[in-house]
Amino acid sequence: MPVLRHIIADMIFDLHCHSKASDGALSPAELLQAAEDANIDLLSLTDHDTIAGYLELREHPTSVKLIPGIEFSCQWNGINIHIVGLDVDPDNAQLRTAIENQQAVRIERARTIAAKLEKLGMPGALEGALKYCSDPGRVGRPHFAQFLVEAGYVKNAKQAFDKWLGNGKCGDVKSLWPEIETVNHWIQEAGGVSVMAHPLRYKLTFSKLNRLIRHFHETGGRAIEASDQQGNKNLLKRMQELSTELGLLASAGSDFHSPEWAWCRLGQVSPLPSAMKPVWTAFKNTPFTAAIDID
Ligand code: AMP
Ligand code: MN
Ligand code: MN
Ligand code: MN
Repeated sequence: MPVLRHIIADMIFDLHCHSKASDGALSPAELLQAAEDANIDLLSLTDHDTIAGYLELREHPTSVKLIPGIEFSCQWNGINIHIVGLDVDPDNAQLRTAIENQQAVRIERARTIAAKLEKLGMPGALEGALKYCSDPGRVGRPHFAQFLVEAGYVKNAKQAFDKWLGNGKCGDVKSLWPEIETVNHWIQEAGGVSVMAHPLRYKLTFSKLNRLIRHFHETGGRAIEASDQQGNKNLLKRMQELSTELGLLASAGSDFHSPEWAWCRLGQVSPLPSAMKPVWTAFKNTPFTAAIDID
């Protein structure tokens, strides 16, 4: 009779990261290589509003268990919220249509951002930003940041976000994004698990965060990035308690974008809270069990 030894504590996983298919620095193949080098067991590439990177990797022979994933942009009460879809069926027709919609929004939003920058005396931003992305439908604010640096309007990407692109600045155009419930529905229809990304990064008070998480849960959200290290410890604890009370599953990822970001390494993820069930227990399309058979 085989003995199952649970290895969650030793398992290396990363369920949130980016490649060149959205705003990351590595190609999908380079990212997979980096995951192998970091001995990652379980990985989901969650590019912004696209699964193109995953589609490039799905036939690659690899030691890494690869879960189809995506990070959708949406809005709630005028705040830009990110929802990660894990274990979605990449061939689901509704998901493909949803992604096309999001890409159309990205293009329209980019035109709006460029028009605003032009009014402020910074012309050519649309063409400038498009140069940095792999496909016009995947254009995002980081590509505008690259343009603003290249054109000499700012010193670095941080300054581009602080001055023009970040929360509440002129390039923060979010009214075109769908509502949370729409995104939850897309993920559900594709058989995936809907995960609230980096809940503490929205800089909300606990009372507002409480409303956001409850709304997410009531509209089909099933998991939350529960070891989010951003924000204060007290808020993290209260967020974890609320998530446990609601029966949300726990997910976590590095949100890796580039090897140049020293503070954010692929596979560097804090342990999941022990009171919560890991999100992978709900994976149906690509089942994964964090146990090995040692006979
Ligand atoms: P978008 O998907 O076009 O709305 O762009 C959002 C992305 O911009 C995030 O996923 C981050 O990668 C990046 N970002 C957001 N805020 C900042 C910031 N302050 N500095 C650098 N990058 C940022
Ligand atoms: Mn990003
Ligand atoms: Mn995000
Ligand atoms: Mn992300």
